Amino acid sequence: MEINSVKPTPECLACGVCCHSPSDQYVWVNGADWKLLGADAERLAHFIGNRAFMKMQDGHCAALEIRREAGKDPVFFCTIYEKRPIICHALGRGSPECEAVLEEKANADRAT
Ligand code: SF4
Ligand code: SF4
Repeated sequence: MEINSVKPTPECLACGVCCHSPSDQYVWVNGADWKLLGADAERLAHFIGNRAFMKMQDGHCAALEIRREAGKDPVFFCTIYEKRPIICHALGRGSPECEAVLEEKANADRAT
């Protein structure tokens, strides 16, 4: 269910905000997630201490592909959408967590 807000929730493909973070311990990968990733696990995820996370590159999850085409808005594409970690399933579009990261990003943008 989508939450009503002053600003409508964007389409995920036009947003990608929740796939970005400066932290390298952002997208937690549990044992079941690692198994589901299969051959992609070693490429896209790694252990930090005794916990596994998605690798980050250029400030976003390594599985995110930002498709840019001249004259068009970028498209934020999860390349492992069907196999994404459970934490990404939990952060659904319009969920309180989604609204919170959008608000955080809006505040950061206002501060710059
Ligand atoms: S879940 Fe929310 S923050 Fe994440 S991409 Fe979709 S609209 Fe953006
Ligand atoms: S696995 Fe996909 S949905 Fe989850 S943070 Fe990475 S790119 Fe975003």
